[in-house]
Amino acid sequence: MSEMRYMFTRLIRVTERLERAAWKGVPGGALFKCSLCGHRFRAGDKFRGVMCNTKESPYRGGNLLVCEECHNEYDGDDVKIQERRIELEDVDDLDDLDDDDDFEEIEDDSDF
Ligand SMILES: [Zn+2]
Repeated sequence: MSEMRYMFTRLIRVTERLERAAWKGVPGGALFKCSLCGHRFRAGDKFRGVMCNTKESPYRGGNLLVCEECHNEYDGDDVKIQERRIELEDVDDLDDLDDDDDFEEIEDDSDF
């Protein structure tokens, strides 16, 4: 799959085969989205992979995919893109904590 090799170095065009591929193990392209803005990639869009989990990368949550707009917004800079992703995940974590009162219930029920 030569597309996979190229996608980490340049923007490539989404083909219908890529659109339907099993990204992250989920068939039908359901998770084939921009990691920053959430845009679901369609045939004809351009996207790029951002290699993470390298020595230099601040983000360790797996490789990212970005759309052409986000790629341009962060000057195609892998580190800037990863830092933005970390910011987004920090916000998500706060939302989860606010919505989640299960922990208190579990502690209240502990009965030895
Ligand atoms: Zn995007």
